[in-house]
Amino acid sequence: MAAFLESQLDFIFFFYGLAFILLGAVCLSIAKEPRGRAVGLVLFGGFGLIHGFSEWLDLAALIVGDSPLFANIRVGCMTVSYMFLLEFARVGAVRLGYRLPGGWIHLPLLCIVVIGGIVGDLATANALARYAFGLLGAIGSALVMLERAQQRATLVGPLTKIAAVMLIVYGVAAGFIVPEVPFWPANIINQTSFMKLTGMPIQLVRGLIACTLAVLIWGIWGQLLIKSVDSARYTEYLRRQFIGTLVALAAIFVGGWMLTDFLGGIYRDDVQEEARGDNDLLASRLAGETSAVRAMAKALAGVPAVSAMLSGAGPKESADAQQALELDVEASGAVLGQILDRSGQAVASSEPREFALLGTPNQSAAPWFEQAMNGTSGHQFEFDSVSGQRIYYASQPVRSSDGAIVGAVVLKKSLDALDLNLQGFDRAFFFVNADGVVLLTNRNDEFKRPLWPTAARPKLALTEQFGAPARPTMLEREVKTSAWTKFDGRRGFVLRTPVEHSEWSMVIVIPVSGMFASRFLGIIITLQFAITTLFYFFGREHGVRDNIEMVRRLELQQRADNLQVQATTDPLTGVYNRLKFDEELLKEIERARRYATPLTLTLYDVDHFKEVNDAYGHQAGDRVLIELSAIVSHGIRQSDLLARWGGEEFVVLLPGTDALQAGVVAEKLRGMIAGRSFDEIGTITCCFGVATYAAGDTAATLVARADNALYRAKMNGRNRVELDTPMVDGADLAPLGS
Ligand code: GH3
Ligand code: MG
Ligand code: MG
Repeated sequence: MAAFLESQLDFIFFFYGLAFILLGAVCLSIAKEPRGRAVGLVLFGGFGLIHGFSEWLDLAALIVGDSPLFANIRVGCMTVSYMFLLEFARVGAVRLGYRLPGGWIHLPLLCIVVIGGIVGDLATANALARYAFGLLGAIGSALVMLERAQQRATLVGPLTKIAAVMLIVYGVAAGFIVPEVPFWPANIINQTSFMKLTGMPIQLVRGLIACTLAVLIWGIWGQLLIKSVDSARYTEYLRRQFIGTLVALAAIFVGGWMLTDFLGGIYRDDVQEEARGDNDLLASRLAGETSAVRAMAKALAGVPAVSAMLSGAGPKESADAQQALELDVEASGAVLGQILDRSGQAVASSEPREFALLGTPNQSAAPWFEQAMNGTSGHQFEFDSVSGQRIYYASQPVRSSDGAIVGAVVLKKSLDALDLNLQGFDRAFFFVNADGVVLLTNRNDEFKRPLWPTAARPKLALTEQFGAPARPTMLEREVKTSAWTKFDGRRGFVLRTPVEHSEWSMVIVIPVSGMFASRFLGIIITLQFAITTLFYFFGREHGVRDNIEMVRRLELQQRADNLQVQATTDPLTGVYNRLKFDEELLKEIERARRYATPLTLTLYDVDHFKEVNDAYGHQAGDRVLIELSAIVSHGIRQSDLLARWGGEEFVVLLPGTDALQAGVVAEKLRGMIAGRSFDEIGTITCCFGVATYAAGDTAATLVARADNALYRAKMNGRNRVELDTPMVDGADLAPLGS
């Protein structure tokens, strides 16, 4: 599980970064809303965006490879993001009325981080930045959010509280579980110990928290929107959108992860197969080298003279045995061959002079000797720190004729020839001893370098034997069989196989930028889907919000229009009321005066309307007034204006119409009315008084003159039109009448 999750670190970084970028985007969106608290939200949003960005830089380092400069930039980016978080907490707390140091407080904290980085290393700076800014900022921000949540009613309060709790958890995960550095508490509580304890990379935990935080903040934003838009339709829409987006994003992430793993898997299988192939090849080369020596040792052990010599025979046998030994050494290309008695003391050697002068140490403790004494063939690789030689020992028990072990033979073969032979092999390989120290490799820089830290043998002993390692180990920890891990800061596949019959093993490392490239394709596809989904949902959200606002504006407009209509129309007949008429009359008089255009005003009144009411009732009278208004409306021009003057009296304003034309219009209307039969009432008639605007007329004088004419029409027998023109003052247009 741990190994799998570690191999998914790129997707985890991607996911973690995206969650923070979304968090930042949501915060900045709220900050734009008129209700948002701009400064705090911009700070928190800034933290989210920059931190998400720095996670993506980590992703880039993983894929493209790292460099010291890039590593510095990433720690810097992370530090800046946490500075935003701390500033958010500081500004928020000051707003709540706490007395806190000003923004300058960042400076001494930053100094601690920078000095830590200079005195220690980048990991120290990283850990210090997390303690000083991340932990402090997250806990402080959470406390501020908790206090703010008290003031919030509705769902926003509890959501803010949950977000605050998540932020505290994040503070611990990102600000307290730091890279492993040699000071308290980072030397005990760190990312490595977390991984050991839980089998989970801490980045996964941080990513999940970031995701939860983003969803919570998004939920809070939704609640604010719901409140500001205040529409049941919108609330329902947003609720559905929230769930829809969550489900879609979850599906995209799971699918994207699977796709990424699948794409990487294709490459991974190739790499693993390649590594196994190389491994087999190297193993067979080594086996070729050692098996010849083993076979020769076996042959030597079977020579009767050797057995006889060890069983205590005479000089003839000893000479034969010495000869066989020398022949054997020469044939196998060994540097030394020896015949040893049961006590481990050499009784014959292929280098007699050395043997004679120096004697040879007792070999009873050598593993290969013990193996031979146990009746098996012995094998051993060894690094001679004095001569710098890498040596293979092959030993065989020597038995007497009755089968008892009487001694052993050993052939000592230098591996330098093999080393030379394998230099041309293009893939990096490392033969390492039990402690993981490289003793045979085609990468000469790595010779004698420990591949992984070892606790089995104290570092000091290793250093004595191989010199102080100039660089840290290539791998962070021992690889037992195979692993996808980091070596020398690069990611890749490491395959380790034991070398037959020995404590040595062979390690092959394959850098896998290619696999990250193909996994990256999966990540990019996931990102595209996520962005498309977000655009879709948020685009629709805007559409719905705009639509709701438009509908609302239309309603308002309609209401305003209705009010306008109510204010200007007569409720019974639907024609304009007196108020509107007075207004229009003033305008038209002004126009007639200014442009010297004719303007005529016609008043008409129903004849004997009281009798209608009396005979048929008030409601029948009302119906007559309604129908009458309809008749007249149809009988006049669009540009004319009909209004109810009061009771059963109406007025028509005819702009651009002179007295003569107006008289004709009035006569037409009179005829239309008189010719109409009104349901149960039968016919009714009206009197018309027409007056034309003359220079110096006011609204009052014009109306008065029309009223005079009307009065005359009544006087002259009703169902008549009377004109009042200034030119022919008092003239009776009787011929127009009936
Ligand atoms: P004339 O104008 O020919 O001299 O006689 P008249 O009976 O029409 O005159 P008068 O002005 O005395 O009466 C007007 C009547 O109109 C009085 C009132 O009952 C009636 N009236 C006024 N407003 C309304 C209304 O809104 N509905 C109905 N049904 N009747 C109305
Ligand atoms: Mg009347
Ligand atoms: Mg009247």
